[in-house]
Amino acid sequence: MKFGFDIDDTLIDLRAYAFALYNKKLGKNITIDAFQALQRVEIHELFGLTDTEGSAMWNSSLEEIYFMDCPIFEQALETLQTLNQQGHDIYYITSRPKQYCAQSQQWMRAQGFPIKEGHFFCGMQDAEKVAIIKNLALDVYVDDKPAVLETLQDIETKVILKNQSYNEHVTLPRLHHWHEFDNIIKV
Ligand SMILES: [Mg+2]
Repeated sequence: MKFGFDIDDTLIDLRAYAFALYNKKLGKNITIDAFQALQRVEIHELFGLTDTEGSAMWNSSLEEIYFMDCPIFEQALETLQTLNQQGHDIYYITSRPKQYCAQSQQWMRAQGFPIKEGHFFCGMQDAEKVAIIKNLALDVYVDDKPAVLETLQDIETKVILKNQSYNEHVTLPRLHHWHEFDNIIKV
């Protein structure tokens, strides 16, 4: 089978990692409860930043957020390694900015993610993911972001949602923890 995965906040806990980094950089002590209650993907409002300030802070922190030691969700790596060993095709589809794509692929490889030549798609807009997913004729695709999931309504691919506080309103098969993956794809 062909499996596709978003990376940030689907396979790795990027947003929570960025949240901890912001606390450190800005000398704040915002609680994890406040973070977990956030209903939007962007985290800057917790730190009293406007959207413009937030986006500047995000962009200037990207190197650190992407390439230091962002944790992988428990069982995510093992799940993909097992799929790979079983002979399935694994694709990564991430809308990380183009200038970070080569290093992102390297970083993912260094963490142990199985990446075959031509199976790493990066640098597209959120809304452009659907065309890639259709062209690849993926059997299964996993993502967390409502803006992406909304574009994936009428495709044959089984779309699975990685649970996050900002996607509670989306009705799709929901992956809370990676150990549930096998059961979800069987249904
Ligand atoms: Mg994501």
